Amino acid sequence: MHFGVVHNISMNQIVVRRFATVYLLLLGLVFLFVPSATAQGIPVLLYHRVNDQETDWSLLTVSTAEFSRQLQLLRNHGFQTITPEQLGTFMREEQVTLPDKPLLITFDDGHTDNYTQAFPLLKNAGYSATIFMVGINFDRANRLTSAQIRKMAANGFSLGAHSMTHPILPKLNAPKLRAEVIGSKKKAEEVIRAEVGYFAYPGGFYNLATVEAVQMAGFQGAFSVLSGLNQPKRDNIYLLRRIPIFRYTDFDQLLEKLIEPPSKPSLLDY
Ligand SMILES: [Zn+2]
Repeated sequence: MHFGVVHNISMNQIVVRRFATVYLLLLGLVFLFVPSATAQGIPVLLYHRVNDQETDWSLLTVSTAEFSRQLQLLRNHGFQTITPEQLGTFMREEQVTLPDKPLLITFDDGHTDNYTQAFPLLKNAGYSATIFMVGINFDRANRLTSAQIRKMAANGFSLGAHSMTHPILPKLNAPKLRAEVIGSKKKAEEVIRAEVGYFAYPGGFYNLATVEAVQMAGFQGAFSVLSGLNQPKRDNIYLLRRIPIFRYTDFDQLLEKLIEPPSKPSLLDY
């Protein structure tokens, strides 16, 4: 197997990266071997919606009671939230101060309930989160307003880019791809009046051209929906891993895996 090649990608080694990306696409699923507890890596959770309105329920919606319970469990186990910048610095193996049990909480698509429901619960738990916004959705119906995003940013939340229109990026030609990626960075930076350094691939879809466009646009890293935890020596900063939380995710089982890493190499299926 070629896990060594896949997981030790230097962003300067274009040939290796090209091979690795193709290899990842062909593989479809990435199987991770976790050698020890200390090398387990940093978890990034991916949410979409937190809502109790029946009309808004979907696989991607978590109820406020369940979200609140999940935050309490994370707090009970000592997890503390970090920013994408802290994760990025850790992944580049540069000096960074991290809590004992670092965790990054992310939301994709920027639904209004991220502000009305999730934000107060997160704040109450002493947590922050990162919201990945689609460029054209700022100030649109049922999506976050610029003012709400600035309010969250003032409370330590981060803003990330999630393309302009949420297309399947690998299907786009080069000019359209660039416009989606660069446009979303510019728009988010206008709203937040600060640099936006991280991107999330819409639907998790990426290929070599996508990753290169994100890098060329000046993003410092990007989030995928590849499963697992983030380890500097193994993982690519432009393919950061996230654990999706769905309506029916067994959070207790997930938490057990996060707090009790296997003592010998085994298959990690989250
Ligand atoms: Zn999305």
